[in-house]
Amino acid sequence: MWRKFKYSGIIIVILIVSFLSSCSPSNMVTKKGLYLGTFLTFSIDSAHSYVYSKVSKILNNIDKKFSRFNKESLVYRINNKKGEWVKVDKEFIDVLKFSIHMNEISYGAFNPILGEVESAWGFYDGNYRVPSEEELKELRNGTNIKNIMIDEERERVKIIDGELDFGGLVKGYALDLIKNLLEKEKVKRCVVNLGGNILVFGDKKEGFKIGIRHPRESGIIAKIRIFSGTVATSGDYENYFIKDGVRYHHIIDPSTLKPAKSGVIEVTVISEDGMLGDALSTTLFVLGIEKGEEFLKGKYPQVKAIIVDEGLNKHFINGAMDLTVP
Ligand code: ADP
Ligand code: MG
Repeated sequence: MWRKFKYSGIIIVILIVSFLSSCSPSNMVTKKGLYLGTFLTFSIDSAHSYVYSKVSKILNNIDKKFSRFNKESLVYRINNKKGEWVKVDKEFIDVLKFSIHMNEISYGAFNPILGEVESAWGFYDGNYRVPSEEELKELRNGTNIKNIMIDEERERVKIIDGELDFGGLVKGYALDLIKNLLEKEKVKRCVVNLGGNILVFGDKKEGFKIGIRHPRESGIIAKIRIFSGTVATSGDYENYFIKDGVRYHHIIDPSTLKPAKSGVIEVTVISEDGMLGDALSTTLFVLGIEKGEEFLKGKYPQVKAIIVDEGLNKHFINGAMDLTVP
């Protein structure tokens, strides 16, 4: 995700997880928008419809800090001033540190400095191509997490090589900020779908039913019911091309710098914390079923996941099965 808008028509239609309308009572209003290079659908109880303009501000602020494409963003500045310190703020450092933490605990599967690699494959601009082994070798050094330097005291960051890319977690992060706002505004009920990352909030009696998109057909592969929290999905069908019969998609295995071939085609993560859930969906996609399951059970027993493999089998982790409904 998070391509420039100009290209976003290519692959989009991605409301991966579709909100099933059984729980959208008539006193809800729905707004639609384009943010962070993707679609936003925002449904809120009508008494709080004014909250949308605040959400819009939050998302534009995130874009100004974390977008690779916004020329005024901090990420853009850092990526384009290699070797130079760039003034950031505490929020930026917190997100950056979280992404580095995810890299450390995931055996490198999550990597926030893959920007040059995504570019080389054409996943940013839609000019898809298969880079040569030689080219990937040259990009290798830039994917080392040690290229990221943080000076916490003076709130500045520099990278020695490579390019930052927060596409693996920024939508989830945005949901966390939106959730804080909804709490503050005492919103009754709200459903946010930001490019397939979902947040449900409020009014817990009936819960929210969410359909998980089928990775290969139209329609859904499972339905879950949750009462609060976020749902993040990573799939090999979101941004991909096929060349000589091979599918190349945008989730990169940092050990090969090629699209991850872990036997997984879709991962859905259900988590209270949006940024964590988003990062984990990408991480589990790279780790694959066995390593992914071991990792999630060991590190995040409170987070549930549904992994779909190439044979379209569903693997339920940490009790995710209990969330499914007919
Ligand atoms: P999407 O954003 O398309 O819904 P994901 O949450 O899985 O799906 O994020 C994929 C995005 O994450 C890619 O577009 C890229 O920006 C970034 N990315 C790709 N591979 C990795 C990786 N191994 N670790 C961290 N981020 C990645
Ligand atoms: Mg993700």
